Amino acid sequence: MILHNRPTIGREEISAISRVINSKYIVQGKEVKKFENAFAEYYNLKSNNVVAVNNGTSALYLALWALNAKQKKVYYPNYSCSSLRNATSLIGGKERLLDVKFKSPLIEEYNFRKNSIVINPHMYGFPSVIKKKSIQVIEDSCQSLGIKRNNQPFLSGKITIFSFYATKMMTTAGQGGMIVSKNTSLINEIRDYLNFDYRRDNKIRFNFQMTDVQASMGIVQLKKLNKFIAKRKEIFKFYKNLKLPLLDLKYNENFEPVRYRSIILNKNPNKIIKEFKKFNIQIINPLQRWELLSKSKKYKNSIDLSSQTISLPCYPSLKKKELIRIEQVIDRVSSLL
Ligand SMILES: *Cc1c(COP(=O)(O)O)cnc(C)c1O
Repeated sequence: MILHNRPTIGREEISAISRVINSKYIVQGKEVKKFENAFAEYYNLKSNNVVAVNNGTSALYLALWALNAKQKKVYYPNYSCSSLRNATSLIGGKERLLDVKFKSPLIEEYNFRKNSIVINPHMYGFPSVIKKKSIQVIEDSCQSLGIKRNNQPFLSGKITIFSFYATKMMTTAGQGGMIVSKNTSLINEIRDYLNFDYRRDNKIRFNFQMTDVQASMGIVQLKKLNKFIAKRKEIFKFYKNLKLPLLDLKYNENFEPVRYRSIILNKNPNKIIKEFKKFNIQIINPLQRWELLSKSKKYKNSIDLSSQTISLPCYPSLKKKELIRIEQVIDRVSSLL
């Protein structure tokens, strides 16, 4: 079976994790510190601009917490991961859903209310910029670590969050997250809040920490990130050369997207998914209609998009011979595509 997605893990990751486990120091410590330093360096920032956490949803929750989202309006697309709703709801923010653009998984500038918060996911690795000044933007880069602008790793917004879930751009042993901000006092507040252990004041805190086991793998994966990005780009190009109707967006300002997904548009995704399954290839609809945060007909573009996308295998450990197999099946079902 050729799987739709899987993590890319080499010997280096296994030896890094073994080293930490053998040391018997497996909670948060110097590996987390090292991973934070390396991540900050990737963005040309200082280590007090980043903080590692246990997953992407925690990162989002903490970003909302730091921006005092309670009772505030929090905007995000109807076409997105339920993580956004869960984090917003837990902090007591007021959900405001937005439709995506036509044939695009991204939102556009909107008449956002002053002093509100916008969570802006760079879905599928496509860059998206919200420029409005009177609001606070949380960049959800869970699917887009490595987007570049003028050849530099790109960040925008007040706070940016990342996920290192198994199949994201890179992983920290299955789960993990990172919060980045140029505003160091926000990061300091979050760092103070994410560990309640051994604190002598009576302040309420929680436990959102990443472990050294996770971080040791993150250090290795981050070193491989540029290779991962290049490999995904190659696969996307392979599909593009097959003349498939790949979902791609136009951008300006010298952006370079990452190819988190290779998605084709088709009116009948289920039929094609079934055909591929006959040949032992797993393809999926990456966001089905039932997954939309609201089913209301108001969100017309979201409904349209969720009923016509098919995601093809696209990950660094996908082998050349697997790609050739996929090409053969694409040829066989070409009348449906
Ligand atoms: C994966 C993902 C999240 C949540 O991250 P977890 O680490 O799974 O909690 C949030 N937003 C987007 C866009 C994601 O893809």
